[in-house]
Amino acid sequence: MADPALHIVVAERFSPEALDRLRAVGRVTTLDSCDEADLREAVVDCDALLVRTYAHVTRDVIACATKLKVIGRGGVGLDNIDVVAASEHGVTVVHTPAAATGAVAELTIALMLGLLRDIPAHDAAIRSGDYKQARANAMAHELSEMTLGIIGMGRIGQAVARRCHIGLGMSVIYNDIVSPPSLDFTATPVEKEALYRRADVVSLHVPLTDLTRCLIDSEALAQFKADALLINTSRGQVVDSSALANRLHHGAMGGAALDVLDEEPPSADHPLLTAPHVIFTPHIGAKTPASQARMNNVVDDVIRVLQGAKPMSAANVNR
Ligand code: NAD
Repeated sequence: MADPALHIVVAERFSPEALDRLRAVGRVTTLDSCDEADLREAVVDCDALLVRTYAHVTRDVIACATKLKVIGRGGVGLDNIDVVAASEHGVTVVHTPAAATGAVAELTIALMLGLLRDIPAHDAAIRSGDYKQARANAMAHELSEMTLGIIGMGRIGQAVARRCHIGLGMSVIYNDIVSPPSLDFTATPVEKEALYRRADVVSLHVPLTDLTRCLIDSEALAQFKADALLINTSRGQVVDSSALANRLHHGAMGGAALDVLDEEPPSADHPLLTAPHVIFTPHIGAKTPASQARMNNVVDDVIRVLQGAKPMSAANVNR
């Protein structure tokens, strides 16, 4: 039986089934907008807040929510939630860390191959009648001849590396700030500078933090191989877009494939929109039914916290 005194605010899109599970325990309000002013107003009397990628649960938002017990993030990254402020206010943050691992790994490999074999350009060339010219100019290395450099050897980094090494025959080097547990495939840890110098493909799988914001800046890019490919399925802000556009305009690297941007959607004058050898996808790494279902399951952890039970995937330890 739902408790009408229990107020649950849902700020981004969750499945009807997930909303029904929430409605079975409390009164649910769904928001049309997740900008910060709307969030501050909506959370004043709420017990639980559910978000996805674009609602920013700042310290101010948390301070407005005096009854708040739990924030549920459907997804992995916590860069849109001030977890420190949540902990200080005794608010539990739950998320779905492994929900999108396989889906993002597959998109990463699709982007790698799409960029390497220039698939979007060939498709466009055929449609515009340039078939022979496109075929005459086409030439690419095979992945099995190439070295993959993974930055961030966590869940997704390992899933990409495992598939690329075992399935596609790539050599793998990686950099992480912590040592991963023993790997079931061959990969060599290296310093970032060595990875930039040695990798044919650099693939980013770090969370967005103070340490990783603009990690790939002009200084890092200057160390890349002249034909290196950069794949970013992590967060757009990990790359300095202007510096990357500049390198690409100067033909100083092979290309970039980006599922994420520092501005989503990008404004018409975003520097990467006019840069050569870039392919984009609109932040679709987790867009598979299985992955979405796992993300929606965050509602069950929210309900556990509301009912005083221990959550499965808490991102903080409360005081
Ligand atoms: P994870 O926590 O398992 O792995 C991240 C790894 O990065 C960790 O091993 C961590 O130690 C490492 N790391 C952190 N800072 C680093 C630094 N400065 N240098 C080197 N390594 C560093 O996370 P995950 O599940 O693999 O997800 C990674 C990121 O992918 C998420 O944080 C999220 O931003 C992004 N993501 C994107 C999509 C999408 O739709 N494109 C979907 C899911 C996740």
